[in-house]
Amino acid sequence: MFDNLSEKLDKALHVLKGHGQITEINVAETTKEVRRALLDADVNFKIAKEFTNTVKEKALGQNVLTSLQPGQLMVKIVKDELTQLMGGESEGISLAGDPAVILMSGLQGSGKTTFSGKLANFLKSKKTKNPLLVACDVYRPAAIDQLHVVGEQIGVPVYSDKDNKDPVSLAKAGIDYARKNGHNVVIIDTAGRLAVDQQMMTEIANIRDAIKPQETLFVVDSMTGQDAVNTAKAFNEVLDFDGVVLTKLDGDTRGGAALSIKSVVDKPIKFIGTGEKMDAIDVFYPSRMADRILG
Ligand code: GDP
Repeated sequence: MFDNLSEKLDKALHVLKGHGQITEINVAETTKEVRRALLDADVNFKIAKEFTNTVKEKALGQNVLTSLQPGQLMVKIVKDELTQLMGGESEGISLAGDPAVILMSGLQGSGKTTFSGKLANFLKSKKTKNPLLVACDVYRPAAIDQLHVVGEQIGVPVYSDKDNKDPVSLAKAGIDYARKNGHNVVIIDTAGRLAVDQQMMTEIANIRDAIKPQETLFVVDSMTGQDAVNTAKAFNEVLDFDGVVLTKLDGDTRGGAALSIKSVVDKPIKFIGTGEKMDAIDVFYPSRMADRILG
């Protein structure tokens, strides 16, 4: 994960390792390399610039207050700032409500259906949760079938109705079904399209307004870098979602989406997807991710 970024940051931070003290010159040299590493990872220019300015200020400011070696100090500052950049604290999802309703949004191919299954599986393992999956893609019968396959795999029932072409009424019917059958969590998988379009946005906003979910999650493929960030922005403007799910972090992703999304949309990354299997889901912890990036 983020191998290239890790390697480049490690190299950048190495600059200070041999130095006895922090000076304006060696800090400038280090932060320039840090900025380059972030830009190479597809972090947006403004974010990379702000990040390195903060690191520079802290390095020069904290230098006199610490007993750490310059190299160690810089690693600590960069790690803390990476943690902040990715949201600081980990934020869970709200499961208040009976049933608690979780609405999935995102483009086609982002990993929504797979993640819906993973989340259902994850919640089911908590024993007190008895999830229901609801298929709300009225355009692609294959998407409904896919959710049934996922549901069977993890032993979670799936509500669908191929004759119902109204996603709002489908979502409501799914929630009704959950109530009648003792499901305390409902995960609603919605239709995505290949690119942001108005009809998709209106549809998901209508579903959200009608069912008032506890959580609206936006699912995005981390491999798409800055596009992921732009898509998040577009969805957030319409949906004001509660959290982000970053998928495909097991792939050759550069890291830009993970590092930029929080500061662009000001919404936490709540989960990550790390593979195609149903157990390849993790709660997102910014500090653990920062540790991982800096090795
Ligand atoms: P949807 O159109 O948004 O519902 O996307 P799907 O759930 O169908 O996922 C699209 C493709 O991405 C499928 O081939 C999934 O197996 C794959 N996929 C989803 N999540 C992950 C992940 O975290 N890692 C990897 N490697 N593949 C994933």
